[in-house]
Amino acid sequence: MIAYISHKACSRHTASCIPAKSPQVVSFSSLTLYKASAEAACEKTAHPIVTLTYPRLLTPTKRRISYFYDSDIGNFHYGQGHPMKPHRVRMTHSLVVYYWLYRNMEILRPKPVLLSEMTRFHSDDYINFLRVITPDNMQEYMRQLQRFNVGEDCPVFDGLFEFCQLYTSGSIGGAALLNQKEADIVINWSGGLHHAKKSEASGFCYVNDCVLAILELLKHHHRVLYIDIDIHHGDGVEEAFYTTDRVMTVSFHKFGEYFPGTGDVSDFGHGNGKNYAINFPLHDGMDDESFVSVFRPVIGKVMETFAPGAIVLQCGADSLSGDRLGCFNLSLKGHADAVAFVKSFDVPVLALGGGGYTLRNVPRCWVYETSVLQGTEIKDDLPFHDYFEYYGPDYKLHLPVSNMENLNTKPYLETIKQQLFTILSQVSPTGAQIQTGQPGTSMTPPDAALPETARERESEMEERDPDTRVGDGGGGRKEHPLEMMPGGDGTRR
Ligand SMILES: [Zn+2]
Repeated sequence: MIAYISHKACSRHTASCIPAKSPQVVSFSSLTLYKASAEAACEKTAHPIVTLTYPRLLTPTKRRISYFYDSDIGNFHYGQGHPMKPHRVRMTHSLVVYYWLYRNMEILRPKPVLLSEMTRFHSDDYINFLRVITPDNMQEYMRQLQRFNVGEDCPVFDGLFEFCQLYTSGSIGGAALLNQKEADIVINWSGGLHHAKKSEASGFCYVNDCVLAILELLKHHHRVLYIDIDIHHGDGVEEAFYTTDRVMTVSFHKFGEYFPGTGDVSDFGHGNGKNYAINFPLHDGMDDESFVSVFRPVIGKVMETFAPGAIVLQCGADSLSGDRLGCFNLSLKGHADAVAFVKSFDVPVLALGGGGYTLRNVPRCWVYETSVLQGTEIKDDLPFHDYFEYYGPDYKLHLPVSNMENLNTKPYLETIKQQLFTILSQVSPTGAQIQTGQPGTSMTPPDAALPETARERESEMEERDPDTRVGDGGGGRKEHPLEMMPGGDGTRR
C-alpha cells in the first residue's frame, strides 16, 4: 500500500510535478513521528519518498475493543505521600469519556474474581492474608506482614483486597473475552501490576494480574507473549514463566542500581524456558528515537520466531519523560509507538496499565494509547472535564520531553539488540508446539508448563459447555451508557 504525504512536505516537488491519479490518502495520525518507516509519496506526484517497512501500520483495520473500568477504582488510596495513586485510572477514564472514545468500545465493569482464581498463581496463605489484613488489625499480623513484604512500599490500606480484586478482575476478564473471541483488543488501565510474586507483595503490587491473565490465555493459546514497557523490569511475570516455553516475556527497562535490580540481558530463561525470557537493559535518558530503534526490531523478531496466539502488553507510564520515579525521556508518541506496533500484528491484545507516578501524565499516556488502539485521532487540546485543572498551564494532551542526556549510545543499543537476536535465533514456534513427553526425550508436553491448579481448571473448563463462559461475560457486564457520562447513574451490582 502506498501512502501519500502532503504536497507541501514533498522535498522533490518541482514545477513539472503532475498530480497523481486517484491518490489514496492514508492518515499517519499518531505515527507522524515515524512516517519515515512507511512508504510515502507526494500526493500530487506519487514520488516515492522512503521504503516500505511496516505496511500493516498503515492499514486502518477495524478491531473490536472492550474496555474494563470500575468507577470504584479511584477511591482507593495507598496513603499520604505514596507515589502510586489509583486516582490516575479515574482521571484516564474521564478523558476517555470527554474525548468521546468510549463510543468506539464496549465498556465493561469487571465481574469480581474469586479467591480461587487468584490462587492459580498465588499461595493460599498469601491471598488469605491480603483478604483479612486491615489498618486496624495490623498489629496482630506482624510476622506475616514481614513474610509477605507488606507494610512499606506495599502498605496496608482500607479496601486493599477489594482493590486487588478490582484490577485483577479486569485483566482475567479481559483474557477470557479474548479467549472467547468476543473482542480483538481488551484494555484494563487499572491492571499491569507486574512486580507481585507468588507469596510476596513488591513494588506497589500485591496480586499479579498479568500472570493471572496469561494463565487464562494459556487455556486457549499454545503460546502467549508478554511485553513490558514500564521503566521497571517485569520481574514478577518473568519469574512466573521463567521455565516454560509457552510464555515469552520481553521487558525493556532501566537496569543498574534501580528497582527491582533484575533483568540483565544474560537472564534469558531456564530449562524449557531457556531463550524465552528477553531482557533489554537500558540506561537513563532513553528517548523516542532510541526506543523505536530497539523496540520494533526486537518485537518484530519475537513475533517472527515465537508467533504467539495472544499478547499481554504492559504499558507502564513511568517510562515517560518527567516521571516522578522514572529517568527515561519518552514522549507520548514514543511510548505509544510500542502500542501501535504491537497492534499492527493483528494478534489479540490485552493492554494493561502499570507504573506511572507523575499524576497528570499517566492519563495523557493511557487516553492517547486508547485512541491509538482504536485508530482514532484525538486533538492536542484537552477537552474540558472533571480533572481539567490538573493539566495547566497548557491544557495539552502531549507533553514536552526534556534535554536530558541519553546515556544509551547507538553502539550499546546495537550490541544488546544483536545479543537478543542471537537468543531469539534459538526459538521456533513449532518447537514450542511439539508434544512428546515420551521416555527418553527431553521435551515435555506444553501442558506441563501450567501449574497443577491451572491444569485442573483447564480440564474442568473443557468439560463445561463453552458457551457458559461467554454468558459469564468473560468476567464483565455491559455498562449502562449513562454510567459513562458525568452525573450518570453509577449504580453497582
Ligand atoms: Zn514501574
